[in-house]
Amino acid sequence: MEGNGAAAGGTRRPWSICRQSAGAPLAAAGSMSIRAVLDRVFSAVDASGPRPVLAIGNGDPTASACFRPPLEAEEAVVEALRSRKHNGYSPCVGVLPARRAIAEYLSRDLPYQLSRDDIYLTSGCCQAIDVMISILAQPGSNILLPKPGFPLYESRTMFSNLEDRHFNLIPDRGWEADLESVEALADENTVAMVIVNPSNPCGSVYSHDHLAKIAETARKLGIIIIADEVYDHLAFGNKPFIPMGIFADIVPVITVGSISKRWLVPGWRLGWIAMCDLNGILKEAKVDKLIESYINITNDPATFIQGAVPQIIANTKEDYFMKILNLLRNSADLCYGKIKETRGITCPHKPEGSMFVMAKLDLSCLDGIQDDLDFCCRLAKEESVIVLPGSALGMKDWIRITFAMDMPTLENALERIKSFCQRHAKLEA
Ligand SMILES: *Cc1c(COP(=O)(O)O)cnc(C)c1O
Repeated sequence: MEGNGAAAGGTRRPWSICRQSAGAPLAAAGSMSIRAVLDRVFSAVDASGPRPVLAIGNGDPTASACFRPPLEAEEAVVEALRSRKHNGYSPCVGVLPARRAIAEYLSRDLPYQLSRDDIYLTSGCCQAIDVMISILAQPGSNILLPKPGFPLYESRTMFSNLEDRHFNLIPDRGWEADLESVEALADENTVAMVIVNPSNPCGSVYSHDHLAKIAETARKLGIIIIADEVYDHLAFGNKPFIPMGIFADIVPVITVGSISKRWLVPGWRLGWIAMCDLNGILKEAKVDKLIESYINITNDPATFIQGAVPQIIANTKEDYFMKILNLLRNSADLCYGKIKETRGITCPHKPEGSMFVMAKLDLSCLDGIQDDLDFCCRLAKEESVIVLPGSALGMKDWIRITFAMDMPTLENALERIKSFCQRHAKLEA
C-alpha cells in the first residue's frame, strides 16, 4: 500500500501533531497519577466474581451516603444559581465576596487578618497546585516534596521541567518531616518546599512544635513553604489542626486549599491560593503578579459556586463538622484495629487526620507476593478489594487505605484483606 497519502494528489509533509519532546513528559506525568495506577489495579478484578467490588483506594468519600455535604451548602448553591446574579464570567482572581469570605475563614485560625487581595480562587486545590508549580518552574530550579506525598506534585513538576527532590516523612515519628534531609537537599536553586498537613497519605497531623521547626528550617534555607491544607480541620486525634500560616512572620507561606474535603464536595471544584506574606517577601518577588498573570490564561471555578461561597461558609454549622469528625474517627479506629489483627500488614502510626492511612506490607510473612503492586492486583483479583499501591506515592511495599467510607463497607473490605493475607501466609518453618 502507498504510504504518506501520496495517492490523494501530490506530495505532502508527514503530519506533525505531537512532537516526541512535547508528548513524552506528559505521557510520563500522566502515567504517575493515582487514577492511572488505580486503573491498573481495577483491571485485575475478576469481573465474573460473585461479590461487589469494594474500593478503598481512592479518596472520594462521596460514594458513601453518610459522607454528604451539609444541607446549608446545597441550599447556598441553589440560591446562588436561582439569583441569576452569577451567570456571567467572573474576574480571573475570583469574585470579591467569595475572596473576602475565604480570607475571613482562614483568618479565624491566624494571629493576623488576611485580606481579600491575598486570596485567589481556583478550580479546586488541584488548580492551586497547578498555578504554583507553573509560576515557580524556572530552568534549573528545584522543589522539595514530601515522600510519601500527593502524586499530582510529582506529575506537575515533571511536566513543567521543575526538578523534584524528596525528603522523607518518618513513620516512627508520626510521619514528621526529616528536616536534616531537607537541609541536605536544598541549594541556591531550591524555590520552595511542600508540606501536606493533615497528611494525605499518612493520616498524620503536625504539632505546633514540628510546624515551628519546619518554618525555621525553611527560613534558614531561604525557601518559601507551600502548605497544602486541603484537609484543614479534619483532625480527630489529640492534636488540633494548626495552619502553617501562623508562622508567616518567619517564612513566607502559600496556603492552598479547597472546600472539597471538609465540605465533602470535591465535584464542586472550588479552591484557593492564600498568600501569607507578613513581611512582603512574596510581593517583592512579584509572586502575586505571576499568579495573576497565570490565572489570566487559565480557567476559573464556575461563577455560581463562587457566588455561593460566602453562604456555604457562613451557614454550615459546627454540628455538621463534628458529625463528620466523629465518622472519620470511628472509621479510622476500625481501620487501625483491623490492620493490627492482620498478619502481613502493619500500621506504624494511628491515623489522626485526613482520610487516609499508610500500612506497610511484611512480605516475609506473605508467600509468593512480589511487591505492593502484585499485592494490590492479586487482592483485586481474589477479593475484589481495591487499595492503592504505595509505589504510586514513592513508597514501595506499602499500601494506602482510605477510611472515609461507611463502616459496613470498610469492615467488609478489611475482613477480605485479612482473609487474603491468611490465605497467603507463609507457613512457619
Ligand atoms: C484531594 C487533594 C487535593 C486536590 O483537591 P481538590 O480540591 O479536589 O482539587 C490536593 N492535595 C491533596 C493532598 C489532596 O488530597
